[in-house]
Amino acid sequence: MEQHRTQQRSIEGSRRFETRAVHSGERRPGAGREPNGAYYPISTPVYASTTFSHEDLETTDRVLGGEEAGYSYARYDNPTVVAFEEALEALEGSAESPGRAFAFASGMAAMHAALSAAECGGECTVLAAEQLYGSTATLLVQVFGASGVEVRFFDGCDPDALEAKIKKTNPRAVVIETISNPLLRVADVPRIAEITRAAGSTLIVDNTFGTPFLQRPLELGADIVVHSATKYLSGHGDLTAGVVVANPPYDGAAEQVRKLVGGVLGPFEAWLALRGLKTLPLRMERQCENARAVAARLSAHPKVAKVHHPSLADHPDAGTARRVLADTGGLVAFELADGDRETAFRFLNALELCVRAPSLGDVYTLAIHPATSSHRELSPSRRERLGVKENLVRLSCGIEHPEDIVSDLEQALDRL
Ligand code: PLP
Repeated sequence: MEQHRTQQRSIEGSRRFETRAVHSGERRPGAGREPNGAYYPISTPVYASTTFSHEDLETTDRVLGGEEAGYSYARYDNPTVVAFEEALEALEGSAESPGRAFAFASGMAAMHAALSAAECGGECTVLAAEQLYGSTATLLVQVFGASGVEVRFFDGCDPDALEAKIKKTNPRAVVIETISNPLLRVADVPRIAEITRAAGSTLIVDNTFGTPFLQRPLELGADIVVHSATKYLSGHGDLTAGVVVANPPYDGAAEQVRKLVGGVLGPFEAWLALRGLKTLPLRMERQCENARAVAARLSAHPKVAKVHHPSLADHPDAGTARRVLADTGGLVAFELADGDRETAFRFLNALELCVRAPSLGDVYTLAIHPATSSHRELSPSRRERLGVKENLVRLSCGIEHPEDIVSDLEQALDRL
């Protein structure tokens, strides 16, 4: 399949992000990638086939041996899944750092493959940002820890803290997120990449909150990018998926892990994800705009004690965000004035438009109480240290009209 992908890149290389989001991955006449040479559907079909046959066994032999492009078995490759992967390559990669994409059944399966591809196993150390998504931290400690990996945490917003720790620990890999949950701290990826590279370690960046619309970590020096495609990439809250985009040698290793562990994305989910990806730039533009509007309005509201959003001058990473992100993202977090858990629950229960649901990145505005959802498993003292207070609410802005989102938030605040 590599030959197909290279050809596709040269066709699309000069086109802009919005254009690549719509056309990448699709089978077009003359692109040399048409699966059967007879039909040119404008939308890649769902290839619901476990296995692929060929004209003769010699061809099957060459395809299985990697000497000829083609498909053999769906755990290795499937045309619909490959279409989604090629689209991701066109969005996350660049000429200098193209990366190969592999789709997984979930973001967690993708993170597991990324860590395995970076050879995090046996007696080694992994340095992980303490702001990481809870299940990623638990995966590291419980699953990789069981094989002998020592997991050390550092403040992902402080590259100096990483520099100090990396010298002492000589880690196999460093794991960070572009934008943290729920306080939306922004990682200085170029600086972290420089420190990690100088130490001879592998940098894995979870770009779920950022998406390639805001940042392309491979371009900034990361080795492996991971996504929960369940979120912004697919964008409609209707599928679970994950992606690894990696440079050599990690690309081949991630592919091998997927073949052997088997956490591959199904063709129907790949079809939905490819369809969702086409509107990523439009959705992100609107979601960023909505988040800025919500942050500005809530900042002036008497029943809101504090708003966390990188567009606000008092956000600790406002400067970093301007430097490393194309925009400030679609999430906003805020603390209710004189509030506790009960106040947060009352506020969330009073919402009429925003949907109470523990996810993000959808076309609908979603609201959660981080202390009892994403950060539920942490001890109260760890939550306190990370700033996840009982009165904190996180909003993932959708694509609705900003005034309707703000009105819903204001009516819920009025009822407190
Ligand atoms: N990474 C981040 C930043 C997430 O927020 C999540 C899920 O919320 C994941 C990874 C895991 O993704 P999935 O639920 O698709 O396995």
